[in-house]
Amino acid sequence: MVKTSAKGTKIFTALSSDAPEINAAAQLIRAGELVAFPTETVYGLGAHALQADAVAKIFAAKGRPADNPLIVHIYDLSQLQSLAADIPAEAMLLAQHFWPGPLTLIFSKKPGVPDITTGGLETVAVRLPAHSIALALLRQAGVPVAAPSANLSGRPSPTTAAHVLADLDGRISAILDGGPCTVGVESTVLDIRFGEPKLLRPGGVTPEQISAVLKRPCHLVHWQPENSDAPPSPGLKYIHYAPRAPLYLLTGVPEKQLEKLQQLQQTFQAEGKRVGLLISRESAAKIAGEEVIILGSRNHPAQLAARLFAALRSFDAKQVDVIIAEGYSKTGVGLAVMNRLQKAAGSRVINVGGDE
Ligand code: AMP
Ligand code: MG
Repeated sequence: MVKTSAKGTKIFTALSSDAPEINAAAQLIRAGELVAFPTETVYGLGAHALQADAVAKIFAAKGRPADNPLIVHIYDLSQLQSLAADIPAEAMLLAQHFWPGPLTLIFSKKPGVPDITTGGLETVAVRLPAHSIALALLRQAGVPVAAPSANLSGRPSPTTAAHVLADLDGRISAILDGGPCTVGVESTVLDIRFGEPKLLRPGGVTPEQISAVLKRPCHLVHWQPENSDAPPSPGLKYIHYAPRAPLYLLTGVPEKQLEKLQQLQQTFQAEGKRVGLLISRESAAKIAGEEVIILGSRNHPAQLAARLFAALRSFDAKQVDVIIAEGYSKTGVGLAVMNRLQKAAGSRVINVGGDE
């Protein structure tokens, strides 16, 4: 099924990986056009990764800074040879374990990969996604596809076609609607070219899982904006995932978080503000508010991840003046959830003491 929005973006609906709409979307990619498509993590905004003019359209449509490199998506390991100048044995091991899946690996790049795709870096980020419609699209396009998240730069990543349309209607040729994404946070970005494995962005594959395969530790790289050095991954220095209202993030012992949350809520309400609460199922039984979104159970981080970006976007529609969000444990995919919440909060993080 194909519709065209009033602003001229085609909306292809694909109910399965053999839908004919996928071929129409693949033809657009081959022709140098932009197509948003579903992956297991979030919707990506795809373009022919080896055509500089096509990739330039991604940066223009998103308003993305030119030095923030893109992840190149492939459907088969054999395509990696055309992108990576060198494939370390450990990278191969991880690819065998986690591909198709939410893991992006950094390689030194081959000359055929345009500078615009890699933000001028000598390295290229590559991922083989685990989504049947994404894989069918990539196979039918037959070329590597550069695809950042399909949102306007700085906004929460899209986990449905409607989110993509809200940001990019009229700015891109087409959206392939394959339903909501299941993982909900982006891929893990890992650099294992030299020394200790460097986790550049936590995501759908956890450091615990990576360590278990490599049989050595894997740590998140810490980089603060006030550092004078260049960040190890350019994306680290940009604003991310921001809903329209300022978001305050609480961290620390859950019971103390709840006390602080209620205090803050009262203060903001006394100032006449409309307050949004982003809370766990456990806390929802104990507090009330005007606009409450229950993210999921503290004990089920995959559920928190799957709902996070949609929740941040729905506060925009509710027109709240301020959002207060609870923090969660950083174990497993909780690390990625907290990373995204921290970025959405910017400097508005309040630690109430203790670990969680
Ligand atoms: P997004 O496309 O929005 O999911 O963002 C892609 C992320 O991957 C950004 O944080 C980039 O900085 C990071 N990335 C892409 N390519 C590289 C690379 N060659 N080296 C380090 N980080 C990269
Ligand atoms: Mg993004």
